[in-house]
Amino acid sequence: MIKLENVTKKYGSTVALDSFSINIHAGDVCVLVGPSGCGKSTSLKMINRMLEPTDGSIYVMGKNVTEFQPEILRRQIGYVIQSIGLFPHMTVAENVGLVPSLLEWDRKRIALRVKELVSLVGLEPGQYLEKYPRELSGGEAQRVGVARALAADPDILLMDEPFGAVDPINRDNLHTQFIKIQKDLKKTVVFVTHYIDEAIRLADRIAVMKAGTLVQYDTPEKILSAPSDSFVRDFVGTDRTLKLLQRFFVKSLMRPAVLTSGTEGMDIANLDELTVKQEDSLEEALSKMLGSRLKKMAVSDDEQKVLGEVWLEDIEKVAYKGDLS
Ligand code: ADP
Repeated sequence: MIKLENVTKKYGSTVALDSFSINIHAGDVCVLVGPSGCGKSTSLKMINRMLEPTDGSIYVMGKNVTEFQPEILRRQIGYVIQSIGLFPHMTVAENVGLVPSLLEWDRKRIALRVKELVSLVGLEPGQYLEKYPRELSGGEAQRVGVARALAADPDILLMDEPFGAVDPINRDNLHTQFIKIQKDLKKTVVFVTHYIDEAIRLADRIAVMKAGTLVQYDTPEKILSAPSDSFVRDFVGTDRTLKLLQRFFVKSLMRPAVLTSGTEGMDIANLDELTVKQEDSLEEALSKMLGSRLKKMAVSDDEQKVLGEVWLEDIEKVAYKGDLS
């Protein structure tokens, strides 16, 4: 869907990208991650021709980007940035409807689309459409930024640290919303961040970059379980095994219950500590098992009915191997 081939970008004597190549698959969320100044934003901006490479080629939907008029290309690609770039003198509705009106959609279609998108990003249209950007919180403004980028239903979305300036709780909500939206829309997303945790949470594939080069390009699970070198290992952190266990869920390791026929008789006050739910991550299960010194734990549903059990040794295997095989 998007291909960068031996792309080099120089700013005077600074080499921002050094023969950088990457192939981003349709429908994937590809997260470019790496320390500040490693060339993430530069790569992103060349995809929609906000910047031109010094050398190398870039292909979007099979065509060299130089074959597109830059304005046409930019209208076909959604773009979300940290400072949002909402126009202050335009309402939320006008901001979100900007690209459709440039594309000369009729007014009714634009109004419908704007309403649909504002709801999609979790805002109540009746309450927000006529507001101005200054009347929005940082998190709300980011949601409007995402809605605006999606307005003309682009196949590709470029996101440059879009949630970087939002507080942790709002960021967490935005992540949940993003994952939900992406599940339905299946856009090809290129997302820039310097937070490894954000990359792990959102990515289908992570591209770890260092000084204008690609160090490792892999699934989050592989990046965590098999970092290609000490740079990646240091970047993902010493808690990489725990981060890996956050990616897998109790449901996938559940064995039939032989441990106990029910949670009857258990100390109700401690029930939450002594059982896990199917949708809990293996990290949560491990934490409870370590805390209670149990090697096997019951998996219960919301009515406290036992559905099965999870074993510490199975979690250890996943931690060691990096997958469920
Ligand atoms: P990142 O997004 O990973 O933080 P950038 O792509 O913004 O990195 O920058 C890569 C390198 O290029 C950095 O060394 C940065 O200082 C340099 N750079 C970026 N933009 C410019 C510019 N307009 N002029 C000169 N140097 C730049």
